[in-house]
Amino acid sequence: MRNVESPEDETVEEIIEKYVRAGKIVSKIRKNATKRVKIGESLFEVAKQIEEQTIKEGCKPAFPTNISRNEEAAHATPTKDDTAVFGEDVVKIDLGTHIDGYIADTAVTIDLAGKSDLVKASEDALESAIKKLHAGINTEEIGATIEETITEYGYKPIANLTGHGLARYNQHAPPTIPNVRIGHGTILEEGDIVAIEPFATDGAGRVVEGYTKEIYRLVEEKPIRHPIARKLLSQLQEYRTLPFAKRWLTGERIDFALHQLEKAQIIMGYPVLKDADGGLVSQAEHTVIITENGCEVLTK
Ligand code: MN
Ligand code: MN
Repeated sequence: MRNVESPEDETVEEIIEKYVRAGKIVSKIRKNATKRVKIGESLFEVAKQIEEQTIKEGCKPAFPTNISRNEEAAHATPTKDDTAVFGEDVVKIDLGTHIDGYIADTAVTIDLAGKSDLVKASEDALESAIKKLHAGINTEEIGATIEETITEYGYKPIANLTGHGLARYNQHAPPTIPNVRIGHGTILEEGDIVAIEPFATDGAGRVVEGYTKEIYRLVEEKPIRHPIARKLLSQLQEYRTLPFAKRWLTGERIDFALHQLEKAQIIMGYPVLKDADGGLVSQAEHTVIITENGCEVLTK
């Protein structure tokens, strides 16, 4: 089992139990949130409800709720005083919960734009990838299956977004799970916990960074001189090495403090990622545990 790094008093069974519990909870929250996404509904309210329900269920958000629309593929999240509402959009909700750092990561696309085929392409790709999973499979084969399925629908997979392993307090641990055939890979082992997340688009099949940045993560703790930045840094401790949203922070001159911390390479930001040609994007994601003969989907 890869990526098991835990306090010494925890057994593998206890760790897996936490992953399983985080998965059940996040999937229940995803189902509730899916019902709430309608034209005219506020993005902020949907994100807030997801994050509040996460706490109520005894978990913590593993990262800010991503609500990415249309050409946005990932890393969009509402701002503190966001007034945006859903229109005729292709809406991706990507959410995660963790228990003691053990993360379940899942995403769904809600079609408010009459693009059901695009949504089906990524759902179907996820399903075919899951069917292939078992201990001993090369991740290269997963990428090939995803690419093939999405291409059959007449869309492109997004080549520079990938699935990933999950480790304690680490949302993007090895191995990388490609969404296209890349010609090399990693053999999955029994007990590996991985997130599979195909993206389908009618655009370029490649994302580029936008300007908006609302999500950050601590990368390295270093001394920082400016008192306002120092104060914010102490507030960030509770997220450890997991991503956090600007809207979660309190205090004065947050933009300034974030800028100082980013300049000192203490934190890094996640700009919104968009299809390079502005195409519409759909996404589907599950966290699974690899078993000898298959896998168990933790976020069903
Ligand atoms: Mn995700
Ligand atoms: Mn993920």
